Amino acid sequence: MKIETVRTHILDFKLGTAFESASMRFDRRQHVLVEIVCDDGTTGWGECLGPAQANAAVVRTYAKWLIGRNPLDTEILWLELYNALRDQGQRGLTVTALSGIDIALWDIKGKRFGVPVSVLLGGRMRESVKAYATGSFRRDGVDRVADVATETARYAKEGFHAVKIKIGFGVAEDLKVIAAVREAIGPERGLMIDANHGYDALEAIELGNKAAKYDIGWFEEPVVPEQLDAYRAVRARQPIPVAGGETWHGRYGMKEPLETRVVDIIQPDICGTGGFTEMRRIADMASLHGVRLVPHVWGTAVQIAASLQFMAAQLPNPVRPQPLSPILEFDRTENPFRQAVVTKPLEHVGGVVAIPDGPGLGIEIDRAALEKYALKED
Ligand code: CA
Repeated sequence: MKIETVRTHILDFKLGTAFESASMRFDRRQHVLVEIVCDDGTTGWGECLGPAQANAAVVRTYAKWLIGRNPLDTEILWLELYNALRDQGQRGLTVTALSGIDIALWDIKGKRFGVPVSVLLGGRMRESVKAYATGSFRRDGVDRVADVATETARYAKEGFHAVKIKIGFGVAEDLKVIAAVREAIGPERGLMIDANHGYDALEAIELGNKAAKYDIGWFEEPVVPEQLDAYRAVRARQPIPVAGGETWHGRYGMKEPLETRVVDIIQPDICGTGGFTEMRRIADMASLHGVRLVPHVWGTAVQIAASLQFMAAQLPNPVRPQPLSPILEFDRTENPFRQAVVTKPLEHVGGVVAIPDGPGLGIEIDRAALEKYALKED
């Protein structure tokens, strides 16, 4: 079995209404898929987190080292590709691009052996996961407090056990939003807050102290990811558990945050931190240091399927008769790629998502959809 072709597919969709996190404005959704085709016709799919065209360029750079190689050699290929760009790489696009390739190789491996990736990872601990709803970005031309309250009340009604809202737009306004959401979803459901590193340490500490009375599950990316000392200050000086890690890449990027416990919950993204190969190592490191791992998920159905396969095999820590189970981040913003790129959409039922049990990632790509949403040259 040999790798014959490596392709990238850039998907592009103009949003009806633009929205913002604390650090970024979205008026389009763009994602890049990686397709790897083998000489026996087996095809694997992966996805890279982050800027689609830039990721595609790095995937194309890696491609020349993949052609003619055995796709089952996932550890060897990961190491060789990482090493090939190591001197100017180590994190960022060199690792996000490698993530998409690694996921496609594991998809091929699953198809080759006729089992889901989760079985190759060591076995399925679970067949479904509870999802939490991610949304509530700041939208143009609406009253944010009322808008977010209405939106999150809808998620509660749909059965989601928890919601995560966007903050980082100013402490006073954020506190009004948090209070309105707690009122809208009631006392029983989980509520998490995500500042998308829009605060400095002092703002984050103030917000955390004033928001704690609303029973907040975690405070995500309070400050910029490079400033681990600021993370430490936020964790030490306010009572809400701190989460982060979607931009820390690979085991090297995770080392200091885990060893020095700058977060209570680590959130690696399988499409950013190095694919299945590196996610396994990071999960072991998190377990070693007693840090809870909740994957970050933001992308197409390929990304969701890869995350679900990983979560199916995620080991409980600690082990007990009723262990903690991972929860799936389920983006609820406008994004046709969550459903359109696969023949069978991944949906939730009452806030619970079933984990596909077909070979590889357990999904089938809808090629007509790839064509429909293909980026037209701009
Ligand atoms: Ca986030």
